[in-house]
Amino acid sequence: MAHPAPRLTVVGDRTVRMIDLGGPRSEVLLSRVAANIGQAVDAVEAFWGTDWPRHIAVLATGSQPQFEAEAGGGPPAQWADIAAVAVADRIDPVRRIAIGQRIVFAPGAVGMSDPALRIVLSHELFHYAARAQTAMDAPRWLTEGVADYVARPHTPLPEQTQLPTALPSDADLDAPGVLRSSGYDRAWWFARFVADTRGATTLRTLYRSVCGVGHADLPAALHNVLGVDTASVLAEWRQWLTR
Ligand SMILES: [Zn+2]
Repeated sequence: MAHPAPRLTVVGDRTVRMIDLGGPRSEVLLSRVAANIGQAVDAVEAFWGTDWPRHIAVLATGSQPQFEAEAGGGPPAQWADIAAVAVADRIDPVRRIAIGQRIVFAPGAVGMSDPALRIVLSHELFHYAARAQTAMDAPRWLTEGVADYVARPHTPLPEQTQLPTALPSDADLDAPGVLRSSGYDRAWWFARFVADTRGATTLRTLYRSVCGVGHADLPAALHNVLGVDTASVLAEWRQWLTR
């Protein structure tokens, strides 16, 4: 299938290649991406540093089925409330490079407000930046929690009606709808808790330790990086949630 010629935007020393797959509002979406990607790059660099790919590709799909196919296929329901994903053709963990990375937007993303679009863009850009340092079997909940820590404004925590009885898990993120969004929230709050009590640098170290290539298991990494066992981390996190 012939795609229209991509256009380029320059952000500092990075280039952003925008690829329009021909949706009725893809042009609008890509110009809004161009207007907001500078802030997303800043947010990612502030947390992760500057050592990540200089070339960024952003794809605007033209229809929901096209988005689902570009996002990785599978049951359409799993993509129902997803605005964008970061995908790669191949990851070479030894050389620490990700090949064919791109951020793929669903056509419905054009309806988002600018602040919401910036959150999605920063979130996916963090995945993009960290991809080559992230193991295929990394716990997804932590990759998502850290991506949200990078992307979302640190608004006050909502009143906790039910405190978590366990650390977040990948299963929490798998069900579409309310269960998934509450799983993302808990993963985000956990990342915020770590950064708030130990600093953002420690959160980055925890990410590399739990999600990096050749990573430790979660209890060992928590112990190594935070200096406490899993039960104590959970207790501290619960306390932090109610402060
Ligand atoms: Zn994500």
